[in-house]
Amino acid sequence: MKNTEIEYYAQKVMFENAEDAIIVNDLSNTIVCFNPAAGRMFSLRNSDVYNSQIYKLIPAELHKEQDAVVEDLLGGKSVLHSKTTRLTSEGHSFPVSILFRPIKNSYNEVIGVIQIITDDEAERILEEKLGILTAITENIEDAIISRTLEGYINNWNKGAEKIFGYTEKEILGKPISLLIPSDKLEEEENIIDNILQGKKKESFETTRLTKVGDQVPIFFTVSAIKNKAGEIIGISEIASNVSKKKNDQEKKAILASIVENSQDAIISKTIDGLITSWNKGAEKIFGYKEQEVIGKHISIIIPPERMDEETLIIKNIRAGIKMDHFQTIRLKKNGDSVPISLTVSPVKDDNGNIIGASKVARDITSEKEAEALINVLSKRKDEFIALASHELKTPLTSLNAYLQLLEKRVAQEDKIFMKKIIKQQEKLNTLVNDLFDISKIQSGKMEFNFEKFDISQLLFEVLEPLKEANLDYDFHLDMQKGIIIKGDKIRIEQAITNLLTNAIKYSPLGSRIEIVAATTANQFTFSVKDYGFGIEPNRQQLIFNQFYTGDSIRKNSGLGLGLFITENIIKRHGGKIWVESELEKGSKFIFILPTNY
Ligand code: ADP
Repeated sequence: MKNTEIEYYAQKVMFENAEDAIIVNDLSNTIVCFNPAAGRMFSLRNSDVYNSQIYKLIPAELHKEQDAVVEDLLGGKSVLHSKTTRLTSEGHSFPVSILFRPIKNSYNEVIGVIQIITDDEAERILEEKLGILTAITENIEDAIISRTLEGYINNWNKGAEKIFGYTEKEILGKPISLLIPSDKLEEEENIIDNILQGKKKESFETTRLTKVGDQVPIFFTVSAIKNKAGEIIGISEIASNVSKKKNDQEKKAILASIVENSQDAIISKTIDGLITSWNKGAEKIFGYKEQEVIGKHISIIIPPERMDEETLIIKNIRAGIKMDHFQTIRLKKNGDSVPISLTVSPVKDDNGNIIGASKVARDITSEKEAEALINVLSKRKDEFIALASHELKTPLTSLNAYLQLLEKRVAQEDKIFMKKIIKQQEKLNTLVNDLFDISKIQSGKMEFNFEKFDISQLLFEVLEPLKEANLDYDFHLDMQKGIIIKGDKIRIEQAITNLLTNAIKYSPLGSRIEIVAATTANQFTFSVKDYGFGIEPNRQQLIFNQFYTGDSIRKNSGLGLGLFITENIIKRHGGKIWVESELEKGSKFIFILPTNY
């Protein structure tokens, strides 16, 4: 055989057995021949394609590219590379790398083109997979580390950075022992030995060291990294931080035990009202066992006439509104009703969507019973006050009359005793009158006789005798004349007298008392300021309660009714009363009355 003949057959064998696809076309882009690899890559059958156009294998938008290649080869280029896309005969596109070469005749004229085509699809898939893997490795919470067999770190992801505190730059090339507590070094060695001896992977819980030297609980999965030949070339370690998980588990356990042991009923339900959890407290209050109610509608504990409430609750829950301490009635399994105080809150998922509601219900039977008892006792007390003040008033009235008679008759030397008796009797009078007023206020029977009157005149009448009687106090009156208001003159006088007597009672002898009365277009303002004991801030609101006399009963304090009655009188006139006071400096009581009627 001649050498040329061998060459011809050799080329044929190479053509037939090449891994890459080879396609030959003439200058009119007609396929002249192709090798079996091209047949496989493009799903070509000989009969189909011989003499058909190469364009059949090129996406339409790339036809121009093919024309340009032919032109360039005709123009003298000897080789061209292209990364492009081709179509199988069935029309599927795939990425390829192509080497174009001209085919020349003996006159060195270009007569055709040979294309050697490599399928890049596998490479593309590999790249894609690598991209996905890198993204996973980078974004995963777990630490993904790899180390050489000699124990040097050669891979370190963001998760590892987060758990151990070292950046990739700091740790690459460093020994893995940096992360291992000294008492755990042996453990690591044993595991690596096992892996080297063929064990596929090892998972275990241990501790590792962070950059700052803290020990973190870690769940480790260690496995071998092998090359194509199956030889172990390194070790990969995936570590998850279990301290958060442990914490979450502990928290869950604590919460579960709180729910379990609570005396209150703690119930959760779906947004449609189906019960999803039911604790021991709920069993105790409502009488149903957990298994009897799970999956049932919450309406089994709602009295039919209160169904509207549930509709309202659901509406609020859907709107994300919590319902706090809502007092209502629910039904027990045995049909009895039970008074409860209910707090219902929306339950949200991780994305903030409302997925249900949690209910905490407290059995308030005993509170309700206590409330009823207090009401009964309070009613009895009111009845007693009403009766006592009424019964006391009659003998007191005749006592008054006899005393007035007696006052005129007693001998001069006994007048001093007479004066004392009258003073005590006046005190008694005030007390009984106050008690009488209280019972009238409580029964809503305090009557008012509204008329127009000159309040400045009234003030003058009240103050003058006080001034005379209490020479020991330094009264200052600042008042406009001729202030006409509409009200019950006797009751207003009573209010003013109460404030004035308090100012005297609760300030030292000889101190100053300032009274100011003023009017504007629609308001009358009256104030009494003393320089006495004053009132602590936390008592200033309490002093208007009935029977309130303060913690330490002052020597002068009475039954604690004066301010209660005064506030009632002022309120019944559409007005308002308050105090401004500082301990040991004095108090100022102010009331305002509307005048625009
Ligand atoms: P009473 O004077 O009969 O105790 P009040 O209702 O008039 O009852 O007053 C209630 C309480 O308010 C008094 O016991 C006293 O502690 C306090 N209080 C009233 N007025 C003054 C005041 N001007 N200065 C200091 N404390 C006062």
